[in-house]
Amino acid sequence: MIPTPSMALRAVRGSLVAKIFAVCFLAIHLPLIAMIAYLGSGFSTNPGEVLTILLAATLIGTITCLSTLWWFIRPLRGLARAVQQYQADGTPVRLRLAQSDEIGVVANTVATTIAELDSVMRKLRQQATTDQLTGLGNRRWLTERIAIEQTRAEREKAPISVVLFDLDHFKNINDSHGHDVGDKVLMAVGEVIRDNLRRYDLAARIGGEEFCLVLPKTRANEAAAIAERFRAQFEKLWIEPLRPGRVTASFGVYEATPADSMQAMLLQADRALYRAKETGRNRVQSAGWPAESR
Ligand code: GH3
Ligand code: MG
Ligand code: MG
Repeated sequence: MIPTPSMALRAVRGSLVAKIFAVCFLAIHLPLIAMIAYLGSGFSTNPGEVLTILLAATLIGTITCLSTLWWFIRPLRGLARAVQQYQADGTPVRLRLAQSDEIGVVANTVATTIAELDSVMRKLRQQATTDQLTGLGNRRWLTERIAIEQTRAEREKAPISVVLFDLDHFKNINDSHGHDVGDKVLMAVGEVIRDNLRRYDLAARIGGEEFCLVLPKTRANEAAAIAERFRAQFEKLWIEPLRPGRVTASFGVYEATPADSMQAMLLQADRALYRAKETGRNRVQSAGWPAESR
């Protein structure tokens, strides 16, 4: 098949090498073209004029060649900036080029690949830090976030409280009604927490039927009131075939000091939780007895 001019033009458009070749060819031959045009138009062959025209044509050819090459690779610099920005702060690479040559293909492929990679990374990060059953955070997530919240609390000189709670006689639910019913209970508890927690509070399932809430800007008495609200809500859960009031939890509440490590915070809240279990379950116990609440 004999190539038509439009096919040749399309081939040049799609090939960076062809474009560079075309520009360089024109730029290199510009003095020759200028000279042929000059001589062909019947002007004198005055050496001074000829030299001037040659120099001017060479200069114009060089400038045209450099600026066109600069224009060709301009999108690559944009891509480099976008990739660096993505690495620095995760800003998505939004670059999309209409050009069909190698630069267009590379830029668009890199942008698409980074977008796909970013989406997979987000999903993996979310899976790695979320408890699949309840949709709350997991222990790993809490460990990361608690450190951030504690630093913030210390900086802002604001209180921060921890509430640890554990479902009562949960093993009996599994044993009597099966693991599926146990799972439903955990899901329902997760839903209650997710629906009722403030935007800036943290909630995680940190063990089988053990949960932890971290409440920034919250004093121990406010945290105990929040825990009490959850206690009452769990008691009202009605999950077939369990009788109403069967799902209960015991709560330990502790207001942390800036010096507390996560382990220390959890230990204090756990001691209070243990006390709540010891003294009858389905109750809220603040650290530093004598006990309050029910
Ligand atoms: P207590 O009131 O003293 O806390 O008693 P408990 O029965 O709740 O505590 P125990 O530690 O004896 O039992 C916890 C049970 O939680 C045992 C385990 O099979 C169950 N469990 C842990 N993870 C899951 C889970 O993901 N799904 C279900 N269905 N059960 C779980
Ligand atoms: Mg339990
Ligand atoms: Mg437990």
